Parts: sequence; C-alpha cells; structure tokens
Amino acid sequence: MPEQLFAWQKFSLRIPEDWVLARYEGDAARGYLRIDDEDMVRVELKWETATKVPDLEKMVERYLKGTAKEMKKSRLPFTSERHLKLVKFPGKRFELFRWRGECECWCFVTWCAECGRVVIGRLICREYENSKELARSIFGSFRDHPDGEYQRWAVFGLDCSAPKQWVLVQSSLRPGLAELEFDLAGERIRFTRVSIAHIVLQGKTIEQWYREFFEKRLRPLGVEFENTTHRGHTACRATGKQRRTIPFLGPARLEALIWLCEPEDKVFALSYFGKKGMDLSPLARLFRCHREEG
Ligand SMILES: [Zn+2]
Ligand SMILES: [Zn+2]
Repeated sequence: MPEQLFAWQKFSLRIPEDWVLARYEGDAARGYLRIDDEDMVRVELKWETATKVPDLEKMVERYLKGTAKEMKKSRLPFTSERHLKLVKFPGKRFELFRWRGECECWCFVTWCAECGRVVIGRLICREYENSKELARSIFGSFRDHPDGEYQRWAVFGLDCSAPKQWVLVQSSLRPGLAELEFDLAGERIRFTRVSIAHIVLQGKTIEQWYREFFEKRLRPLGVEFENTTHRGHTACRATGKQRRTIPFLGPARLEALIWLCEPEDKVFALSYFGKKGMDLSPLARLFRCHREEG
C-alpha cells in the first residue's frame, strides 16, 4: 500500500496515502486529531503534557471500562487484550492493547520523558484488513518529538519544517490550498501550497499571483521581486520593507520565496513577515514539493 508521512504538532507517523487529517484541535502541549479514510475514522490521537509520571496502567483500565460500557449500551459484544508485544515504542513507557466491539481497534498509550507528552492513540480497522500488519506499520512509525532543531509538518500535500520553538497560529487545509503559519514573538513564517497551478495562475506569473494573494499583507510594504530558480523550478524571491517606520515598532519586513513546481502542477510559497529579517534558505531546503529521486 502506498504510504505518506503525516506530521503534526511534533508527531509523525506513516499512514496510507489516501488517508487525510479530518479534525484537529489544541496545540503541541494538549490536543486531539483525527485521520479518516474515504468514509470512516481510522486514526485518533489525543495528547497532553504530564506534570508528573502518569499511571498508564490506570489510564488503560479507565479507557477500557468506558469503552465496555458504551458497547454494552449498544448491545455489542466486547473483548479486550492488554500488554501486547506487536510494536515497541523506543525510549518511552507504553502499553499496547486492543479491543473488539463493533469493529477491531488497536490502541496505545505512551509517555515520553523527553517531551513530557502522554498520548493515547487508536487505529480502527476494517473487517477485511490485515489489522495486525496495519497496526505494526502505523504504530511502528509513530514519533512524538522531532530530532534536531526543526519540527516537520506534513499534511495535505504540504511538507515543510519550522524551527522547533515556533508555534502554529493559523492553518487552512483544503485539497486546493493548504497553508500553515507559525509565530515566534510576533515574527511569522507562512507555508503555502496551491494545487492545479495552471488554472489558478491563468497566465499570470508567480510574482503577479503572489502580489494578489498576499495583497493585504504586502500593502504597507515596498516590495521588490527578483527572478531565480529553486530546485530547478521557475522561482522568484521577494523582499519588502515598510514604507514608513511606525514609532516603537521598527520597520516590518518581508522575505519570500515563491516557485512553480511543474511536475506537481503546484505553486509553493514560503513567506516571512517580521521585524528582524530571516534567512529563508534552510527552510526552503526543507520545504518539499515533488518527490525527489533517492
Ligand atoms: Zn517525546
Ligand atoms: Zn518540485
């Protein structure tokens, strides 16, 4: 089965290619997300940051009790198995378990001393699937904190990395347009991916498109564009400075790299809005467009 990397709020896991993020809330410290296939819920993650070492044993007990009650209400049979050995979660305390009611569900709880997060995850399986294999491959790929100085985000065809301390403040995720915006003390970086570029551009250059798309944010700035290439694609670089300096605020700046990825027929834009200025090259390198060889 073709797979994709899914990465969100410092988590990552590999899921089948046609599964999509369907709901999300919260932030890196505490939140919830749901991944669906074309017609049902497949994966759910719920997390929070523990202030002390959590009692996973009890958590699982409580969870199974609650589920058993629900099944009883719906007059469904319920069985469960605990402390399963199928997958290891290196470096974490964990328990892997599964239950069966109206369907089969593989679940885990983990606690990681490094990032402090307690996660409860579940995979809902279909009758005809090799649920064991699926659980092994999805849970086996689960990571709850990134290595290095960047956090990777991979969702809706947007595959990018932001510096670890930056916080997601805006997101818009649709098949046609996916955007994520991060903040650190008022400085912003925004990742944009636009699909079916040949229709969206309608003969416009990427510079014209960018000027229109970010019209409001560009308005107070004097912006200059310069043609370049990025990963072998037609690209342009934008730099901007506020026309008038507002007292106490200092000049606002824009740095951006926009490119047209022909094989994917997508436009990608990486934008920085802030006061300090930013070298975008490391982020541009980590912002993937088409699948590269190797
Ligand atoms: Zn961790
Ligand atoms: Zn590309």
